[in-house]
Amino acid sequence: MKFVSTRSTIEPKEYTSAEVIKMGLAPDGGLFVPTEIPVLTPEMLDRLAKLPYAERAAEILGMYLTDYTHEELLQAANAAYGAPKFPAETPTPIKKVGDVDLLELWHGPTSAFKDMALQIMPHLLSMALAKTGETRDALILVATSGDTGKAALEGYADVPRVRIQVFYPTDGVSRIQKKQMATQQGANVNVTAIYGNFDDAQNGVKAIFSDPAMAEALDAKGMFLSSANSINWGRLVPQIVYYVSAYCDLKNAGRLADGEAMNVVVPTGNFGNIFACCLAKRMGLPIGKMICASNQNNILTDFINTGVYDKRRTFYQTVSPSMDILISSNLERLLWLLAGPEKCRRYMEELSANGIYTVEPDVLAAVQEEFAAYFCDEAMTAKTVKEYFETYKYLSDTHTAVALAAAKQHFRHIDGKCATLVASTASPYKFSPAVLGALGKEVPEDGFDALRALQKVSSVPAPERLANLETQEDRFTAVVRPDEMKEAVLAFADM
Ligand SMILES: *Cc1c(COP(=O)(O)O)cnc(C)c1O
Repeated sequence: MKFVSTRSTIEPKEYTSAEVIKMGLAPDGGLFVPTEIPVLTPEMLDRLAKLPYAERAAEILGMYLTDYTHEELLQAANAAYGAPKFPAETPTPIKKVGDVDLLELWHGPTSAFKDMALQIMPHLLSMALAKTGETRDALILVATSGDTGKAALEGYADVPRVRIQVFYPTDGVSRIQKKQMATQQGANVNVTAIYGNFDDAQNGVKAIFSDPAMAEALDAKGMFLSSANSINWGRLVPQIVYYVSAYCDLKNAGRLADGEAMNVVVPTGNFGNIFACCLAKRMGLPIGKMICASNQNNILTDFINTGVYDKRRTFYQTVSPSMDILISSNLERLLWLLAGPEKCRRYMEELSANGIYTVEPDVLAAVQEEFAAYFCDEAMTAKTVKEYFETYKYLSDTHTAVALAAAKQHFRHIDGKCATLVASTASPYKFSPAVLGALGKEVPEDGFDALRALQKVSSVPAPERLANLETQEDRFTAVVRPDEMKEAVLAFADM
């Protein structure tokens, strides 16, 4: 299996899977995509259905990551998805709630679905260094507004030949998120708050990546910079696994008949999670429609319904902050698949020059063949959290609620119901104040007070790892100015 950039048009250079995992982004600014989509036959699905999650993962990863051995992938999957990191029974339980099946992807160490990829990706990177003959160690730089930073820290902690430095805006993350990062364990991790907002952190990281003097200084220390963000292929391919696995589980439970397709609803920000679902479908997994659920930042809803991607619009801060995005990077991969590299490149150029592009009618038709899209405003998000709790005693987080609301709109649209899997992306306790507010309760100022209040109201226990945080000692307390970030990275490299 080889990989090419979404933006290379003539005789694209081909890369191996280990190279793309190490590099993250293609040199021309495009994203890596596989040159062919492997096929999941019904026989293979039957065989996978009999295996535990980690073995399913090793099989599916092996279809794309062909320069890793099955033993290596199985070892990585067992390390990533075993107990105590995930529940011993299964890392991805499915709960039937009302008319839908909720695929809970947040039982990992940081209580958000990003663990599904970030628990295994560090192992893949560590092995990629050996496979590509890289003699230097990787230094991962992350700017975070909360969820990604903690999930990356937890994934990379104590992974050989890798270090990780996370920057977050000191006043731009919740109390619980800050505590999650400040208490992180591991000999190879560093966490630094910065004075400023998320953009300052992000710009600081970008400046470090594009500074040749930094590359040179780190090279002299035997290190190179790498990233952990969601456009890395190494984050995407582990996300295919849980869709295949969920299908197997539903089939095993007798909830899907032979050959019966399921619709899948995904709360979407960067289009990574739903694109992984799209790959699973193209591999042959029986999936009907993929339903793209957005919050008030409904740029993808507009795009899928009209073919116009227009980011010249108001940015809203919502109660589902991990979906507050106006540039959904992974959409580029879908455009490459549907429209080919020339058009894909042109759309991306138009987006960066004018903030808008429009796809041709045939491309739009191809998008709509596979996807439907709905959005949910703040009031509807809160109403959905409340409704699911009152009707089914199911406590949903605010991101998942956006997807539940989209499922409902789709049922109304198709005038009926069909097997529907909804991706549940975070524990409600990760967003305790918003969930408590949605239930119509008074919201205490402190995040941990809100967590306790939510426990009391709902009688649903909070994940221990969140509840126990409050009493843990902070390990990282440094706060620096954005112009001091380079020094912080160099000092960490010397440690
Ligand atoms: C990151 C995130 C999303 C969005 O996922 P994408 O892959 O960016 O579309 C949704 N919900 C939660 C809780 C997240 O952390």
